[in-house]
Amino acid sequence: AEAMEFRLRTGEVVDESLYPKIPHMKSEDARLRTFSNWPSWSPVQPHDLAQAGMFYVPEADRQIDRVQCFCCAGMLVSWEEGDDPWQEHARAYPNCFFILGHDVGNIPSEQPRQR
Ligand SMILES: [Zn+2]
Repeated sequence: AEAMEFRLRTGEVVDESLYPKIPHMKSEDARLRTFSNWPSWSPVQPHDLAQAGMFYVPEADRQIDRVQCFCCAGMLVSWEEGDDPWQEHARAYPNCFFILGHDVGNIPSEQPRQR
């Protein structure tokens, strides 16, 4: 996957109270619900993306595998076979407080994982 934007800059002092950037996507289940039209050709699974803090950001006129993090608002696109959502998130946005393990209000899913 490729990072579309880099919003958290390395080495910069950031105000932690500004996070999560997208509070209404704090819940993993809420994120999961955004994947109803996730492209079937994508090699990565909605459950794994939602668990890594990502929700689907579709485009009206074309199918795109673009996702965004509820915490850092970083976007990832062009998922490839073998990509791990958590690892790709950490590589593209290493300063994300969710990735760093801070309490940013994430609400994990209570639903059993489906495979
Ligand atoms: Zn993030």
